Amino acid sequence: RILRGSNIVLSNVETEACPADGWPEFALVGRSNVGKSSLLNSIVKRKKLALTSKKPGASRLRPLGINSEEHALAVGKTQCINHFRINDSWYLVDLPGYGYASAPHELKTDWNKFTKDYFLNRSTLVSVFLLIDASIPAKKIDLEYASWLGQNQVPMTIIFTKCDKRKKKKNGGKHPEENVQDFQELISEYFEAVPPWIMTSSVTNQGRDEILLHMSQLRNY
Ligand code: GDP
Repeated sequence: RILRGSNIVLSNVETEACPADGWPEFALVGRSNVGKSSLLNSIVKRKKLALTSKKPGASRLRPLGINSEEHALAVGKTQCINHFRINDSWYLVDLPGYGYASAPHELKTDWNKFTKDYFLNRSTLVSVFLLIDASIPAKKIDLEYASWLGQNQVPMTIIFTKCDKRKKKKNGGKHPEENVQDFQELISEYFEAVPPWIMTSSVTNQGRDEILLHMSQLRNY
């Protein structure tokens, strides 16, 4: 499905129907409410970037040229694989979230199947960016998702979100830094080496440039 008025965003539910131009891509995935839309917006709205080329200004991330309605459709709660073409040279891919309260058996649903099919068969996928909320303790479903990626050797980067949030004194809450450390310890058994990770905040824009630099390094690898 091509969104109305634009062929910049491609939206579909089959790996085979994804763009076939061979450009590298990075897929963002995370539990519902993890902050994926906020992060995606903060990345695609960045206007001054020069990360894909050494020539100054040669590879700035251009605004995507899609209107807010299309953007909302593409980054909203649609259960599709959404491709955002960046700089005519690579893709940011928004994948369906997981962990919706209304979908207790989600692991068995179609969208999870096609997401897994995408992870296993999309040859241009450089790395999955798994978003983890650093403001709360690790959730079982996040650990399951990370372990599935690890066990299937899908290249992965962990993006910790909401790192600006301070701990809640009630409930014995922890600082984002402590939650990050706990999560890394918990997943270490599924990975030979802890995957690369970046701490971010869409409120302060912490980590945004680091994400883009990391993507650029992986693309040129
Ligand atoms: P999505 O469901 O994963 O797309 O999550 P959203 O981007 O819609 O964000 C869910 C909620 O978390 C919203 O209320 C956001 O304002 C909030 N949020 C997202 N990112 C951050 C962040 O970096 N810091 C803080 N403090 N709140 C955030």
